Amino acid sequence: MLERIIFATGNEDKMREIRMILADMDIPIVSLKEAGIAADIVENGTSFEENALIKAKAVMELTGEAVLADDSGLAIDYLDGAPGIYSARFMDEDTSYDVKNAALLAKLEGVPEEQRGARFVCAIACMLPDGRSLTSYGTMEGRIGHEIRGGNGFGYDPIFFLPEYGCTSAELSPEEKNALSHRGKALRGMREKLRAVLDEGGDAGKQEPENLQENQGRAEDE
Ligand code: IMP
Repeated sequence: MLERIIFATGNEDKMREIRMILADMDIPIVSLKEAGIAADIVENGTSFEENALIKAKAVMELTGEAVLADDSGLAIDYLDGAPGIYSARFMDEDTSYDVKNAALLAKLEGVPEEQRGARFVCAIACMLPDGRSLTSYGTMEGRIGHEIRGGNGFGYDPIFFLPEYGCTSAELSPEEKNALSHRGKALRGMREKLRAVLDEGGDAGKQEPENLQENQGRAEDE
């Protein structure tokens, strides 16, 4: 039986959402900081899934423990999917999101409603100590708004307009956002996959890698 799962993120905003969504897992989920791990992982994959697997694998190899990792971002149709996997690095990691959001609004100035489509994407990967990997994926569809709105959430939430709700994802409560979000969908998909693995009764921490069948899959969006 696994004693805990490390979530390989240093982003406290994400960690808060992750804890809420995985609150009913029987296993404690700890952040890198709580596990006392300092890891500088180069995310050089070409997709969200690849980057999530790179992070989870690097921390699993460092600790020998079960590790979850996510990679997420905003894909804007008018910008051919940018900033995409470069969402955190867009205009530099240290630039404030007020500045990044204003820059994206400026790039879409005058662009009509029907060309403002965008989605948040999240891939979650889990690497088990026995070498098995699981992946799961979720998206949240919306549009790029015309102004910065709302004080909840983080990152690009204040410019991500949800037409069905008439507000940005920064104007949703944390519970509302988790119910709709890319991260919520991907994490709930991963929760089910992990439960299935843990319910198999095997000990994911003790099997020899050569005796294992790889258990990879992609959760459907809800
Ligand atoms: P990652 O840490 O490489 O996955 O970077 C993800 C980046 O995508 C974040 O730093 C944000 O800029 C953006 N992002 C991902 N999910 C969200 C979200 O739920 N709201 C707003 N921005 C997000």
